[in-house]
Parts: sequence; structure tokens; C-alpha cells
Amino acid sequence: MPRKWYRGDTHLHTTNSDGALRLYELIDKAKKNSLDWIIVTDHNYNSIEKSYSSDGLTVIQGQEITVQAGHVNIWGAKVPAEPPYDIPDEAAYSAMMERCREAGATVCLNHPFCSQCGFRVPIDGFPADCVEVWNTIQHSDNVRNLNWWVAQLMKGRRIAAVGGSDFHRDQIPGIDMLAMPATITFAESNTPEAILSALREGRSVITCRPGTSMIELNVGGAGLGDTVGLSGGLNGTCVATKLLPGFELRVFNNDKIIYSHKAKSYEKSHRAEFAVLEPGFVRAEIDVRLSGPVKKLFGAVETKYLAPRSEVPPVTADELFWAFTNPVWVEE
Ligand SMILES: [Zn+2]
Ligand SMILES: [Zn+2]
Repeated sequence: MPRKWYRGDTHLHTTNSDGALRLYELIDKAKKNSLDWIIVTDHNYNSIEKSYSSDGLTVIQGQEITVQAGHVNIWGAKVPAEPPYDIPDEAAYSAMMERCREAGATVCLNHPFCSQCGFRVPIDGFPADCVEVWNTIQHSDNVRNLNWWVAQLMKGRRIAAVGGSDFHRDQIPGIDMLAMPATITFAESNTPEAILSALREGRSVITCRPGTSMIELNVGGAGLGDTVGLSGGLNGTCVATKLLPGFELRVFNNDKIIYSHKAKSYEKSHRAEFAVLEPGFVRAEIDVRLSGPVKKLFGAVETKYLAPRSEVPPVTADELFWAFTNPVWVEE
């Protein structure tokens, strides 16, 4: 079946844990926001017994395992244990994630470097399918998540990136925080199985919210999550949409930038062509540089909201990402 793009959100709370909306209110809001799928992930609680479809919206069963060691999303199958969970250390947590995968679940490491509730145990060896690189409204902790994810990719580990709004309520007046960020999956259909396998296979673009910039990356005919051979030379294209002045599109081949373009004025669409040089992976990102009064203001806001409960003082990044793709894999 030909794949299509489906907009969704991997990480949502309701009144069944500490969210403000009842499940039906959250579902109504997702429909109003024209989402195709959502995963409901209340803390240590199954709000949905079984995934289903409602007026075209796919509602996927999930749970956020929430313990001191760190938070993990379990999607598409129930946690094969009852809370309160006894997972105090790395070995116990890793074993729990293995059990969840054996039960058929897709497992995602949530906000790993959150300065308030990140992981307190090492995560490099965790058996996860996905990592939530972008959690809630964009902030500097997500840059640390991205750096960890890229380091994993550089080691050859195929762990897929996702975004999750971690929606609890609309906290900031005038800003709809559902699907902020949005995870846009390239899936064979909008069934729970097809969406979850697209998430696991890294067939997703994460963008600030639905309707903002999108990035379509193609390398030698291969798309996100696919593998293509380098032999005899390899070229690619990347189309990025809705670039605001100052936005910079970058295409990476491993840790090298092989294409960059900074928008001087609004660009509805920008097309890049590039040659791929090395085996490994190709991925694309749209970045926004923070400087002067903007960085100062942003830093003050982050200090106010992140510092009080953080274990390490938050460091405001010089640059934030606005959208990014998962990789296309390149073999010799
Ligand atoms: Zn969490
Ligand atoms: Zn959460």
C-alpha cells in the first residue's frame, strides 16, 4: 500500500492522571486540531483498554511508566505489570522495557535529558524503539535530547526520534499546546499497527506544530527509515516548507553538513539538492538561532520555569530546532 503522511501526537495526559481534560474532551480537541492519530499516555494508568478509531481519529492505547529512574512511554500494548512499579535501577528498568516489548508494545524513552524529570540511570543500553527528542514547547533540554540521539545514530544504533506534546493543559494563554510538537508519520494507513510501525521504523518528521514547516527528504529514491546503497555515488533532495526569515535548513551526512540554506525572507518552499559522501545516514533539520535580546528573554523564561526543580542549572541553547527528520540510512 502506498504510504501517506499522518499527523499525530505520541504523548498525552487526561484527568485519569494529572491532565486537565477528560478523555472525551481530549479526543474532541484532537479532532478540532485535525490530527489523524493520538496516543493517550497517562501516568501509570491505561485510559484506553484497546486502540480504536473515532470519526477518522485513531486513538492508540498507551501508558507513561512514571518512576524516579525516568519516564518511558509504552504504546499499543499494556504494561505486563501493575503499578506501583518497582524499577529502581538500570537493570530493572531495562528488564521491564524488554518485557513490554515481548508483550507487543512499542517502547519510547521520554524526555531523557529533561532538567526536571529526566533519567537518573544510564540509558545508552536501554532496549527502546524510540526516543522523545522533542518534548512539549521547544526549550533547551530538547537540544540535549537531540545531541544524545545523534550520538546514538553516529554509533550506528537505529533508534527512531519522535515528538510528544506531553499535553496536560493549555498552560500559556493563546497557545494551543496539543500536538506542539507534532509527529508526522509516513505510514501505510491510519491504523494503530501502521502508525506504530512507522514510528518504530523512523518514518517520521517532527515539526513545531501541525501546519508549520514540513521537510521531505529523499536519498537515491529512499525515504525516511529506508536503507540505500552508496556504491557509484548517491544524490538526494530535500524540500522544506514555510521557512521564516532567519530559519536555516541543514542536511547532515553523519556529523557533516552537506547542505545549508538560510532564508532571508519568507520562503513557501525551498528545494535542496546534494551529494552524499559517506555511508551512515542522512537527516535534515530546520534551526533557529537565538541571539541578542531574544536569547536574553528566552534565557530568563527558561531559568524561571526550568531552574526551580532542576538538578543541574539549565543552560540556554544558542540554537533551537524548528523541525527535523529521522534518517535515511546509507550503506557501503
Ligand atoms: Zn514524563
Ligand atoms: Zn507525560
